[in-house]
Amino acid sequence: MKNVDDIEIRKFEELASRWWDPNSEFKPLHEINPLRMNYISQQINLANKKVLDIGCGGGILAEAMAFHGANVTAIDLAEASLSVAKLHQLESKLDIDYRNISAESLAIQEPEQYDVITCLEMLEHVPDPSSIVNACFKLAKPGGQVFFSTINRNPKSYLFAIIGAEYILNLLPRGTHDFAKFIRPSELAAWCRESQLNLKDQIGMSYNPIIKKYSLGKNIDVNYIAFYQKASNF
Ligand code: SAH
Repeated sequence: MKNVDDIEIRKFEELASRWWDPNSEFKPLHEINPLRMNYISQQINLANKKVLDIGCGGGILAEAMAFHGANVTAIDLAEASLSVAKLHQLESKLDIDYRNISAESLAIQEPEQYDVITCLEMLEHVPDPSSIVNACFKLAKPGGQVFFSTINRNPKSYLFAIIGAEYILNLLPRGTHDFAKFIRPSELAAWCRESQLNLKDQIGMSYNPIIKKYSLGKNIDVNYIAFYQKASNF
């Protein structure tokens, strides 16, 4: 069975032409990108690392990581988004290999090939996120590092990530997120434990609607980034 929700893919394909418009539906991703990029490069040195970005969309994060010297492969199942990513790459001239393949299929083709894997704002859009986590484990080299980001599931995250972001502040189109698919850090941790990925660090990401700015901090009630590492004796 394919671990993909075709309705989700269609939603992203319809918006694809606007991936690089910083004032579009993707504005929040553009705004959080420098923050998450800083976080990743504080944890690890990306230079010359073989990096895989899963659910890359138009390549916002993939380009930033390539700019930091990583050798990036970036995958998504939305062909229209990959076309936009490749077009943008013609301008940026960064070294990124964009491919239309699922994480699970790539894990069969290229096991233990990647130093670093990023899977940001993607797990909450797939039917079986634990299968993506397990693919990340298979794709990572022994000692490889994996970054996930997603949205916590609790009354506060419903209020902030759905009511606030989609209905009051209009930061995201209505229907972008499905509350039932949000993931508690403990659930992610349980899938990672099954896959022999060890938690190294975790950080929250929040939005201040008064000053209209995102920031990183201790509070993981709503958006969070989790950093895991595969044991080196694998
Ligand atoms: N990771 C990017 C984009 C997040 S939007 C960023 O943070 O900037 C979510 C992305 O996941 C979309 O591009 C969507 O097409 C992709 N996606 C959804 N389901 C997927 C699947 N099963 N496999 C690969 N990509 C998927």
